Amino acid sequence: MALRMSTLFLRTLREDPSDAELPGHRLLVRAGYVRRAAPGIFTWLPLGLRVLRNVEAIVREEMDAIGDQEVSFPALLPKEPYEATGRYEEYGPNLFRLQDRKGVDMLLGPTHEEMFTLTVKDMFSSYKDLPLGLYQVQTKYRDEARPRGGVLRGREFIMKDAYSFDSSDEGLEAAYQAHRAAYIKIFDRLGFEYVIVHASSGAMGGSSSEEFLAVSQHGEDTFVRCEASGYAANVEAVVVAQAPEVDASQTPAAHAEPTPETPTIETLVAAANVNHPRSDGREWTGADTLKNVLVMLRHPDGTREPLAIGLPGDRAVDAKRLESAVAPAEVEPFEGKEFAENPALVKGYIGPGVLGEENASGIRYLLDPSIAVGSAWITGADAPGMHVFDLVHGRDFTADGTIQAGEIQEGDPSPDGGGVLTLARGIEMGHIFQLGRKYAEVLGLKVLDENGKLATVTMGSYGVGVTRAVAAIAEDNVDGIGLCWPRAIAPADVHLVATGKDPAVFEAAEEVLAGLEAAGLEVIYDDRPKVSPGVKFKDSELLGVPTILVVGRGLADGVMEVKDRRTGERRNVAVADAVTEVVNEVRGSSSAQ
Ligand code: ATP
Ligand code: MG
Repeated sequence: MALRMSTLFLRTLREDPSDAELPGHRLLVRAGYVRRAAPGIFTWLPLGLRVLRNVEAIVREEMDAIGDQEVSFPALLPKEPYEATGRYEEYGPNLFRLQDRKGVDMLLGPTHEEMFTLTVKDMFSSYKDLPLGLYQVQTKYRDEARPRGGVLRGREFIMKDAYSFDSSDEGLEAAYQAHRAAYIKIFDRLGFEYVIVHASSGAMGGSSSEEFLAVSQHGEDTFVRCEASGYAANVEAVVVAQAPEVDASQTPAAHAEPTPETPTIETLVAAANVNHPRSDGREWTGADTLKNVLVMLRHPDGTREPLAIGLPGDRAVDAKRLESAVAPAEVEPFEGKEFAENPALVKGYIGPGVLGEENASGIRYLLDPSIAVGSAWITGADAPGMHVFDLVHGRDFTADGTIQAGEIQEGDPSPDGGGVLTLARGIEMGHIFQLGRKYAEVLGLKVLDENGKLATVTMGSYGVGVTRAVAAIAEDNVDGIGLCWPRAIAPADVHLVATGKDPAVFEAAEEVLAGLEAAGLEVIYDDRPKVSPGVKFKDSELLGVPTILVVGRGLADGVMEVKDRRTGERRNVAVADAVTEVVNEVRGSSSAQ
């Protein structure tokens, strides 16, 4: 198979697109793989589509290998099933909603648990029909608040979603493990560094859940790892243990002190060390202060509720942990207007004295689990320029509960007790869930068991971001001059470049092309007659095909040049050996993967 550049539907760009912030995204656009149609919505051009199809093929092979059967559900869906599970509301503004000509509400599917459940219910009725595994490679729609990185986070994207159906818990566990093993094969074959982490299950519900994250500085997810124990989790899923109670019998009574001009933790700590030094000689630090952060929650039904979060002053609220802790509610800032509506709140000096459903503000107050009963704090005294010292949790104040929203810091203890945590960033590439009986229950998917009794089916759900994989692999495989595809998904095996004007060069290139095609290789052939060698070389580097074969000046000496796109290594090969050399190189490195 050959793609001739003289006729290929391709226009490479010398300039970076102005709206692309990530290097891989910039290069996918410049190299003519994708083109933006609207924010978060992209057109796939011939080269991009070839990479996409290669990813899809790997995914399909591994799903077929575990016996899952491919189907294809519509993207345009009725709303009733999503109403039945509550997700029509829960998805909030992320869901694309529309009406047909009769005014009937419809939606564009963000994920398909409901539809698969209902279809299996329609068709199967006995435990003997199970286990069953189904999958599709299909277009999903989510009106993402922040589309990003081109096809990395789109509003229209392709997902491979699979669903397992079992009549027993052991069956679900086996299906989950089979899908997990298939995912390991998929991501190994795609050829990038990834980690498998514990995940929070978000809007999906269900219990056991893991994510496959591409390790990347450009990732939006932060994950933690514990070298000693092997524990790994998305920060959203880290459950900080409740700190054990401490003895407060020696702590003096709480006392309010003037602390003028101390609206921040730093100014407060500095002032406390000057004006109210500790009796034990130790310095006050941010960790001795209790900071109270206010946010507004917007519930799926549109109602808004303020929330106060108390946490040690040296720890920020982590936006993603907070989002995950309050889901399906969304988090909005608590602004001037809200302060004005609640006079009990003194900005910069808010303390537990006014927080909590029972207190003056009436605002629900949740604490970070690191705040032990019996621990003493410096915190706002709810009066301008005043803080209270030695305020003891459980003695002087209480809260309405705890919340897992504090940032996880490097060196924090691992939740499994096995050591300390380190932090890194990643891109979520795949997600596997044990959904359990949640969807089957609500939608009435039951089968007759061995004893003729109706039993609710248990399900798993398994997603891979197919378009996202292209973007994430691009991010991971760029250098200063262009893309460098891993062989398994490159748009071609070889980029053949014919340079100069000499007809003999083009004849020799045609001959080597025929040989490569006969050997079954896929070739991009730069046969453009009036384009300079410099431009052709730049384009070959930009497009990122792993092997570049140059036919040009060397032909007079009976050689062609083979170049490795990734390492930049070049070597001359005799014209007569060129096909064999290139075929060996392609096959050799692909079998090594
Ligand atoms: P994220 O946290 O990144 O928004 P998610 O947890 O909402 O993703 P899932 O519902 O688990 O996503 O979907 C399964 C897979 O689909 C994800 O692991 C990811 O690879 C892919 N995916 C999800 N949203 C998008 C998107 N907007 N664009 C491209 N791929 C996506
Ligand atoms: Mg997910």
